Amino acid sequence: MNDMSATPAAETGSISTDVIIIGAGPVGLFAVFELGLLDLKCHLVDILDRPGGQCTELYPEKPIYDIPAIPIVTGQELTERLLEQIKPFHANFHFGEMAVALAKLDDGRWQLTTDAGTVLTAPVIVIAAGGGSFVPKRPPIAGIEAYEGTSVFYAVRKMEQFRGKDVLIAGGGDSALDWTLNLAPIAKRLTLVHHRDGFRAAQHSVNGMRALVDAGKIDFHVASVKALHGEGGKLEAVTLASPDKKEWRQETNAFLPFFGLTIKLGPIAEFGLNLHENLIPVDTATFESSTPGLFAIGDINAYPGKLKLILSGFHEAALMAQAAFHICRPNEKLRFQYTTSSSSLQKKLGVA
Ligand SMILES: Cc1cc2nc3c(=O)[nH]c(=O)nc-3n(C[C@H](O)[C@H](O)[C@H](O)COP(=O)(O)OP(=O)(O)OC[C@H]3O[C@@H](n4cnc5c(N)ncnc54)[C@H](O)[C@@H]3O)c2cc1C
Repeated sequence: MNDMSATPAAETGSISTDVIIIGAGPVGLFAVFELGLLDLKCHLVDILDRPGGQCTELYPEKPIYDIPAIPIVTGQELTERLLEQIKPFHANFHFGEMAVALAKLDDGRWQLTTDAGTVLTAPVIVIAAGGGSFVPKRPPIAGIEAYEGTSVFYAVRKMEQFRGKDVLIAGGGDSALDWTLNLAPIAKRLTLVHHRDGFRAAQHSVNGMRALVDAGKIDFHVASVKALHGEGGKLEAVTLASPDKKEWRQETNAFLPFFGLTIKLGPIAEFGLNLHENLIPVDTATFESSTPGLFAIGDINAYPGKLKLILSGFHEAALMAQAAFHICRPNEKLRFQYTTSSSSLQKKLGVA
């Protein structure tokens, strides 16, 4: 397999755990629960800056009607309920990090490296990466690539980076409004631009933004960014244009366009897996792939009859956890137990 043999990173530099989960969508989150009941500890890596995958990124406010025993729940609420459910298991999240390289160590463990340089090792790796990575849509502004990563950012990884700067945010969705509210107290000056005076974001965020504008704390313009000005990746100003074609120049050190996301499989395609049409074929008894110790659950896997539904992913997580236990604890016996009647499970859940 490609890229699958390596020597361990210096012990001090890598984090060792039982299970590494790529993807903190609904299925990755529920996997924490099923693994937690079996005393298996997890680290989750997600390129997004928050949990929930498609549910929070694509349809946070849309109602879902087919989650068993919850007649109606929005994508955001489902994510919050899952986070509440997995609280007892203290999973470690690495948000804003993309899983970029996977290698098998000589001792049989997996080593996963992220684009932020985090190195994780574990006997089991679970790929719960859905359709892949959400890739930000780049606005059609000439030469924008030259500023990416230095003055133009599609996600906020460290808020402190924007302290004392002239920040320009563009967009009308939740990300644009959330970061407007969060960065307003830190930035020297913050300007939000959107091509119309209407927003797709949650109403309370829009109200918060308008209150800041009324208080003179931030600026909002119905406008779009026409051009970037600066040198060597250092942004100095932008040209803004209003719908009636008036143009003006505004000093700006940091530009954050939030124009939505597209989904691409991304680095997982380079992991050397036996992909079938960009999906990972699995054994439906365990949801293990053809590579021992590597499991795939949720939208990323393929098997006869697969339905890309959240409830399917939950079932897959439960069976995966049973198989993962035998890899992580080869000398221990696994006893099937119900949460209703097992005092040991209830202890783990903090309810006994
Ligand atoms: C509009 C819409 C409505 C839907 N309605 C329903 C419904 O009513 N009922 C239902 O059951 N399903 C519904 N679905 C489908 C459902 O959302 C998916 O089945 C579910 O989100 C799959 O969960 P997942 O955890 O497998 O993947 P995802 O939710 O896609 O999460 C995968 C996560 O992995 C991360 N990731 C990917 N690659 C990497 C990488 N290399 N490094 C780090 N992180 C990575 C992504 O950032 C993402 O957060 C709907 C989907 C859409 C788009």
